[in-house]
Amino acid sequence: MASYDLALQLGADYIEQDVHMTADGALVVMHDATLDRTALGRDGSATGPVAHKTLDELRRCDVGSWFNQEFPHFARPEYPLMTVPSLDEVFTRYGRTANYYIETKHPESYPGIEEELVRLITGHGLAGRPEATPWGVVVQSFSPVSLRRVHELAPALPLIQLFSVQDSASVQANLAEVRSYASGIGVFKTSVDHGLVAAAHACDLCIHAYTVNDQRAMKRLVGFGIDGVFTDLPDRLDDVLHARRTRKRATLG
Ligand code: CA
Repeated sequence: MASYDLALQLGADYIEQDVHMTADGALVVMHDATLDRTALGRDGSATGPVAHKTLDELRRCDVGSWFNQEFPHFARPEYPLMTVPSLDEVFTRYGRTANYYIETKHPESYPGIEEELVRLITGHGLAGRPEATPWGVVVQSFSPVSLRRVHELAPALPLIQLFSVQDSASVQANLAEVRSYASGIGVFKTSVDHGLVAAAHACDLCIHAYTVNDQRAMKRLVGFGIDGVFTDLPDRLDDVLHARRTRKRATLG
């Protein structure tokens, strides 16, 4: 929640949720499929798959201490109080004040994840929000099976097909297929070139790149005409976009 608060404060257009399912069927927001890297239990390190824990067990883990250790220059004393949020809690906290970019992670391990996701989005009144620009909720996945399932359940929800690290040509070969169920693609930053951006746009697909934290790469992608980037540092992207607008104005002036 602390990272979402800060991202929104820094002007992020979307907050991203990597979603897993607990042993008792709750959707929780966490990057990894296992606890080992980022969670501490009461008696030391917590281990094992999220899928083997109940929501209550996850709520008893501290998921902030690892961050303070890993990033001492960003550390804050309140982070060790952070726990794994459920998707329901994230929606409740931000409601319609945020836009959500939700990833079904390892969906093949979580039967029913798509049904529960659509139920929560609908239950919180987040589907079909005309006031949100461009979309209030986007669902992304590396799994075409998962995205097609979401598309069946909620045909109006915009979907993003993710691609693992690969070259521009091999992503382009999939675009005709992807446009039958998705509104865009999410690709690794080094896949992006002018050809890929043009091919995606020609298929009416938007194109986003992950995960871009240095400004040189941001500038390069913006120069290619990318529609968005995933970043841990949204204020850096804002600086790049602001500098570009200022330069453009100067050129026009
Ligand atoms: Ca993700």
